[in-house]
This record gives sequence, C-alpha cells and structure tokens, in this order.
Amino acid sequence: MKLCIASGKGGTGKTTIAVNLALALGERAELLDCDVEEPNAHIFLRPEISGSKEIYTPIPLVDLSLCTFCGQCAQICRFSAITMVAKKVLIFQDLCHSCGGCTLVCPTGALSEGKRQLGEVSAGHKNGLSFLSGRMRIGETMAPPLIRQVRAQADSRKISIIDAPPGTSCPVIAAMSGVDCIVLVTEPTPFGLHDLKLAVEAVRLLDIPCGLVINRADIGTDEVYRYAQQENLPVLLSIPFDRRIAELYSEGKPLIEALPVWRETFLQLYEDIDQLTQAHKEKVHA
Ligand code: SF4
Ligand code: SF4
Repeated sequence: MKLCIASGKGGTGKTTIAVNLALALGERAELLDCDVEEPNAHIFLRPEISGSKEIYTPIPLVDLSLCTFCGQCAQICRFSAITMVAKKVLIFQDLCHSCGGCTLVCPTGALSEGKRQLGEVSAGHKNGLSFLSGRMRIGETMAPPLIRQVRAQADSRKISIIDAPPGTSCPVIAAMSGVDCIVLVTEPTPFGLHDLKLAVEAVRLLDIPCGLVINRADIGTDEVYRYAQQENLPVLLSIPFDRRIAELYSEGKPLIEALPVWRETFLQLYEDIDQLTQAHKEKVHA
C-alpha cells in the first residue's frame, strides 16, 4: 500500500496526519517526508537517523576542444539550459532537466556527463517505523527528481506513507503519482475550500481514490462538507479545534504519544483508507 497525505495549502495539519498515522501503524509502515523544500516530519517523529546520501542529477559538460559550435545542443534544449554566444557554449546548470538530449545530438562527442547536487536523502527509524526524508540543496529549484529518489528508496514490504509538499504543482504530482490512495487534509474555511478544489482537480486527473481529513473541523462553515458530498469524497476523519492539540503541535509532540486515545482513531483511519482503496480496485476491475 502506497498512501499520500497531501493538501492544497500549507498549514492544514498534513504532516500531523502523516506522522500520527505512521506512528499508529508502527513497524508495518515507512514514513517518507517528500516535502523536500521544507521537511519537518522529523521534528515530530524524532527518529534515529542512520545515514544520509547526497543525491545528484546528470548535467552536460562541454569540451570546447571538440566543439565545432554547430549549435545543435542549443536547438534541442527546450529548457534553454544551453546557449551559444559567439565561440562559446554556455550551460545554465540550474535550468537543466537532465534529459540527455544535447549529449545525444552532439555530433563530435564534445558533451560528457557531469553532475549537480539536488539535495540529500536521510534514512532512520523510530521503534521499528522506518523513515526517509529528502532535503533540497539550498539554491536548488527542482524538487520532483529528489522526491522520486526518496520514493525509489522506499521499502516495498511496508506501507508507504508519503508526506507530500503543499500545493498542486509538479512536486505534489511527483509525490502523488502511482500511489494507491490520496488523503487530502483541509480545513473548513473559504481558503481551505478553494485550495481543496484545486487539489481535487489534480487528484482526479491521476484517477486515484481520494478521501478527506478535515482538521480544526468545528471552525468556519459547513461548505467543505457540502463540497465533499457533492463530489462524492468520503470524509475519513474530522479533528476538532482543540487547544491541547494545538499546544502539542507547537511543542512538536505527536498526538498519539501524548493522547493515546487517538491511536485507535488513526488505526481506524487506516482501515477506512484500505477499504476505499479496495473499493476503487474492485470498481476498476469490474
Ligand atoms: S540535458 Fe536536456 S535539459 Fe539539460 S541541457 Fe541538455 S538538452 Fe537541456
Ligand atoms: S552540439 Fe556539440 S559540437 Fe555542436 S555546439 Fe553543442 S557541444 Fe558543440
């Protein structure tokens, strides 16, 4: 089971849900922090980190002594990462998407493979629960390849719980694609609803079953609930606005560790996610 916890906007409690669900499942699960621009699951989980690995992406390097300045590399690059200026080939490393097209078309072999660091992936554990976390290098702009690297290192024998980046752009799609179920965490406010609608549109394009967790459920209006009904999105869990929960969050303490009564709630959440996933599979195969 691969499961992605996402939200249309930041600050909805997405990481709280991911961490508590993972802790409730314990050694059956692996938590993947794919919010690589601002990973923070480790603050709540406090895992023992066993190692980190730098992650690189290939970029072209030019040997001017072999270059005939034909310009074919610049022509094929749709990201404008290579350009010709007089008798020079300029490579803008940060724009390169590592497609390899330039090296393929170069007729003289003047381009070889260099590398650019994307960031690093750390691995660890907490009482049998496995943990992976990606962190982008400062100044790096491309999150999707690093997110894919975090996911590639996941243990396929465990339930993967992916903490996605907020929003609906390419990094979120990299975190969501290919999972069995998506949980969208939202709050019942006009901003929450607006961003939830964008997130649901993205999920629908991927054709992945999806349910909602409504955080701070007793603030705002019932518009999110009406939207959920209208769009046939099951509300898997509602968490009330509670001072004690907010205090635990600000102290970086997981809910189920401080208030064990929530453990059953998160185990039930997993059961409901599993049922939703099975129902979708049956529908697809019918
Ligand atoms: S590898 Fe692809 S993206 Fe990078 S410079 Fe070459 S053609 Fe452009
Ligand atoms: S394709 Fe190769 S030979 Fe042509 S300009 Fe680019 S690096 Fe030089």
